[in-house]
Amino acid sequence: MPGPLLPGSTIGVVGGGQLGRMLAQVAHQFGYRVAVLTGGAKDTPAGSISEIEIAAPFDDDTAVERFLAESDVITWEFENVDPSLAEAAAAAGVPVHPSGAIIADAQDRQREKRALTAAGVAVAPWRPADTSDELRDAVEHLGVPVIAKAARFGYDGKGQVRIDDPAEIEAAWTTLGGERLVVEAVVPFERELSVVVARGADGTVVDHGVMENHHVHHILDTTIVPAEIPDDRADEARALAHRIAAAWDLVGVLCVEIFDTEQELLVNEVAPRPHNSGHCTIEAAAASQFEQQLRAVCGLPLGDGECRPAAMVQLLGYLWTDGEPLWPAALRDSMIHLHLYGKAEARPGRKMGHLTCVGDTAAQALQRANDARVVLSGR
Ligand code: AMP
Repeated sequence: MPGPLLPGSTIGVVGGGQLGRMLAQVAHQFGYRVAVLTGGAKDTPAGSISEIEIAAPFDDDTAVERFLAESDVITWEFENVDPSLAEAAAAAGVPVHPSGAIIADAQDRQREKRALTAAGVAVAPWRPADTSDELRDAVEHLGVPVIAKAARFGYDGKGQVRIDDPAEIEAAWTTLGGERLVVEAVVPFERELSVVVARGADGTVVDHGVMENHHVHHILDTTIVPAEIPDDRADEARALAHRIAAAWDLVGVLCVEIFDTEQELLVNEVAPRPHNSGHCTIEAAAASQFEQQLRAVCGLPLGDGECRPAAMVQLLGYLWTDGEPLWPAALRDSMIHLHLYGKAEARPGRKMGHLTCVGDTAAQALQRANDARVVLSGR
């Protein structure tokens, strides 16, 4: 195994979003340089604070060549990228963490379900559907209601259609654009959980405990840590994440999203990178999910991920509807931490930033973070 990549080296980040920005912030703190391949956009959240921003598509060979020439290691903040990028990196002798094989599995829901099942992890009952006839067969087999999800390029509920009646099948197939699908039974979950886990090159695995997540319109709205669940259930959720990290031979960070049905834990999906639900680790843990990503991909020892009770509330673009949010009012509570992603245009459902709060209990932290969010738009 080569030695660790030391400060002064350049971390190549695929994707220019807020996850890359928060990775770049800790990389800079540690004395690393950052090069970002954005996928096309300029002045991205990550690229605008990095030494190098390459504003080009992921399949632009010349741009990829430059990105690889600038980078000492490649990691991902966005996984919906052709895994041939990882092959190009291997050919150029640049290490890639997590591996292209993990990216290929995580970006395709059919492959992901099979890889999870192979790792011995339970998922919701599902069927693949590559044609409208297969969609019909899947609905018949699973019984309504189901959720049909495009196998690729979905996020935040995009590329998903719920089918409550077999009469809706054709419309669902058309809405989803004739893409390959995963058709899942609707899981009657009690709550949604997630576990962010880091695994080092030496096989060490560290997590941040279990997060409990609440979505609004399919977008993560709030997270608390630790989740309000019995200890044995939390241990089970953490064990699932550790099992996936080891089975996939992860080097880096991944987030496992879980449905807790009371009877059992079912894995919904896996993101091979830090995750929205892990943002509170910046204040709640000695080593945040972004610091763990940096440490893992550089071959450094992992930090202590244990979290104090904390909460995160998302700041979406609708908060800008009547002008700039009232930042001083929200920050009057000295326990509130503000994170803004540097996005110029505030569209209603766009993730613009988040607030976090650490407290004696997660419920108290959530109350304070929610109160702060309310006063932001309280004109
Ligand atoms: P996903 O993009 O797969 O993470 O789905 C976004 C959200 O839709 C999840 O966080 C759940 O709230 C909901 N959802 C997705 N799949 C299912 C399912 N099989 N059963 C119930 N709710 C689901």
